[in-house]
Amino acid sequence: MSKYSFYLLIVISFLACKQTPSGDSGGNENQNGNENENENVQAAVAEQRLEETKEVTFDKSISDNLSKKPKDDFNREEWGEIIETDSMTILDIRYATENNFTEKQIYDCARCFLRPEVKKQLLGFREHMIKKYELGIILYDCYRPRPYQQKLWKIVPDERFVGNPAKGSMHNRGMAVDIGLIDKNGNILDMGSEFDHFGQESFHSATNISEEALKNRKLLKKEMAYYGFLPITSEWWHYSYRKNIQELSDWVWDCD
Ligand SMILES: [Zn+2]
Repeated sequence: MSKYSFYLLIVISFLACKQTPSGDSGGNENQNGNENENENVQAAVAEQRLEETKEVTFDKSISDNLSKKPKDDFNREEWGEIIETDSMTILDIRYATENNFTEKQIYDCARCFLRPEVKKQLLGFREHMIKKYELGIILYDCYRPRPYQQKLWKIVPDERFVGNPAKGSMHNRGMAVDIGLIDKNGNILDMGSEFDHFGQESFHSATNISEEALKNRKLLKKEMAYYGFLPITSEWWHYSYRKNIQELSDWVWDCD
């Protein structure tokens, strides 16, 4: 293969991935769009799972670890905050750093907000993973305010790469998380590609990743589904909660 055709192949596979309407790097996913169309393979099982979504009840021994209180600088009726209460939760909010595909800091600071019901279900998932597998969670992105989506759009004004703020995404509704798993020593489990990696390896259908990574992805997908979180085909890290879908939001958290 010539150097040129190799380069062309890279570009094509990059575009194919980013053009997938279900893609969500930088928010290129939306509630009404084609996200569902690309979930045909998983849809039947997922919908069934959504019906069976676990009602969350907290184990006192674990919820005691949640005693560290989040700041009281937001509307608790509208939002819930996930904080690093113990070693089983890591926040690695990439858009609050330059370590993301734009190589620019988009968020003024790293905080993880979700709609209250979504937070509750995510903490239920976390508790279950700790108890059953001694695994914790790492969160790469949560609620993404529309002004920040606008900022992303300004840097990359191309719907193949970034969601159009006018349409909005599940992240803009506080209904989505980008998540991975960690072990009890804080090691990140191998998922076959990095967060926000542009390539086939990030698809749930990827076959060119290790057995271990496939196993980890499958576990995340299976257990998230029981808490009402559904995947999209092109990003192993992206899950959205599809019950009681909330409005798009412009609210931006404080950084003091
Ligand atoms: Zn996402």
